[in-house]
Amino acid sequence: MVKQSAIKVKHALMETYRRTPVKLIKGKGCFAWDENGKKYLDFTSGIAVCNLGHVPEKVKEKVGKQLDQIWHTSNLFEIEAQEKLAEKLTELSTFDRAFFSNSGAEANEAAIKLARLYANKRKKSGPIVTFQHSFHGRTLGTLSATGQEKIQKGFDPLLPGFAYLPYNDPAALSEVDTIKPIAVMLELVQGEGGVIPAKQVWVDALISTCKKNGILVIVDEVQTGMGRTGTLFAYEQYGFEPDIMTLAKGLGSGFPIGAMLAKEEVAESFTPGTHGSTFGGNPLATTAGLATLETFIEEKVIENAQKQSKYLWAKLETFKAQFSFIKDVRGKGLMVGIETEIEAAEIIRAALKEDLLVLSAGPHVVRLLPPLIVSEEEIDLFAEKMQTVFSHF
Ligand SMILES: *Cc1c(COP(=O)(O)O)cnc(C)c1O
Repeated sequence: MVKQSAIKVKHALMETYRRTPVKLIKGKGCFAWDENGKKYLDFTSGIAVCNLGHVPEKVKEKVGKQLDQIWHTSNLFEIEAQEKLAEKLTELSTFDRAFFSNSGAEANEAAIKLARLYANKRKKSGPIVTFQHSFHGRTLGTLSATGQEKIQKGFDPLLPGFAYLPYNDPAALSEVDTIKPIAVMLELVQGEGGVIPAKQVWVDALISTCKKNGILVIVDEVQTGMGRTGTLFAYEQYGFEPDIMTLAKGLGSGFPIGAMLAKEEVAESFTPGTHGSTFGGNPLATTAGLATLETFIEEKVIENAQKQSKYLWAKLETFKAQFSFIKDVRGKGLMVGIETEIEAAEIIRAALKEDLLVLSAGPHVVRLLPPLIVSEEEIDLFAEKMQTVFSHF
């Protein structure tokens, strides 16, 4: 039977995204090609996912081998790649245990559940403090955690148990003292909220309040993690040890995977039956994650990200000096926001005409998330294209 529809739609997909009318069908490193063979310089990395660039050789090889072995077993069985990835992640961080999910939102869901379980076991109650302009995901739990009305609008009733405080604001510190939350959850550089780095002094004070009052610190490193800000994890630069960290975007080089890591004392609240996922950490996903981390180490990806970010930031400073509509250039490492008086959407459109892919973070911030394997030549090419783009305005 042919369905009768009152509305004529272009296609069968729900309209949840405002898509750029380009189909990328092939990628290599910092470049992607559309169906007509047109080549683009990709400074989006699929939203901080393809940190090793498109189709990284080693990840392709390892996932390819795994494709011939076994794809999925469920967590009813032991999974070698999952164990190895957990070992590697805990070895490279301050955490002792890992739980694997399929996305950032799910990693945050796991963090929220773990924090609540940990508190409940200690007969503590209170909300989880999150911050204004934060972004923690689109599931009901994580959109409730997200401090942005535009994300929450229309989805009432939200999940209770969150208190939103102003980010980078000293007023939040005394609030934390009065609210006595069970946990504080934050991005160290707010991504979707406009590429806003947390101030060191503010973080210092916040963490010390939390430690003094036995409040868990959860860092959402779904976007800042995996080298994006110039260290493997952003918290390393702030000089403190969180209790819980979540990862996703860059962890699998494009293979969907998320992770929630915690210190032993907190992690032990999870016992068999308390949390789970059918797909989470399956052999394909964790093979991709493991190969990604191995590539980071073998190919000194972080070192390159640090070096190239200096080169990129110098170029951006000259743009700022040259174009008065650029109000601010901010971020950390290769996570950059350019705040302009011009709408970000207009700049993105102009960049597309130069075969350059960039993204936004709010209406007036152009966001750059180049692959961490970017070279000086590719940054030169970016600067050349961006010069043309900015000159249009
Ligand atoms: C992208 C993002 C999420 C959500 O990740 P999904 O994989 O889209 O669910 C959560 N937190 C932060 C900081 C993010 O940038």
